[in-house]
Amino acid sequence: MEKTLILLKPDCVQKKLVGKVIARFEEAGFTIRAAKMIQLTDELLREHYAHIAQFPFYADVESFMKESPVVALVLEADGIIDAMRVMLGVTDCLEAAPGTIRAELGSKEEGKNKMCNIAHASDSDEAAKVEIARFFSEDEIFNR
Ligand code: ADP
Repeated sequence: MEKTLILLKPDCVQKKLVGKVIARFEEAGFTIRAAKMIQLTDELLREHYAHIAQFPFYADVESFMKESPVVALVLEADGIIDAMRVMLGVTDCLEAAPGTIRAELGSKEEGKNKMCNIAHASDSDEAAKVEIARFFSEDEIFNR
């Protein structure tokens, strides 16, 4: 069984889409192993988004990700890391495949379509392990 780290981003929370997105995850057969709401900080974001920190758009991403608390989840299923990336769609909501969460629920607004894309999901098993440990302590994860 594989686990992945999900962050339901401020646009998801502000648009009141948290329930809808979690319902899609559960309907896909994914099991919730951990869940909490947290306010992200600059420090946490610089760790989580270290791979984009050098880009000019990073400052906007940092502000966006702090606009409201986010909902962090650990979900589990066979092959969930790839399945979740497919279910989310690519970063740009305007380019995400029809039927994906980002295509259906993400921002289509010019300037926001690449940033306000509803959810983060780990992109590899290695990243998932690091990200889960970043957001959850062992006693916050329920394996039954
Ligand atoms: P993903 O979340 O699809 O794995 P990345 O890891 O490349 O994408 O980027 C992290 C996040 O940074 C994206 O989800 C998005 O919110 C934001 N982002 C990425 N590229 C851009 C961009 N060109 N302009 C604005 N925001 C971006």
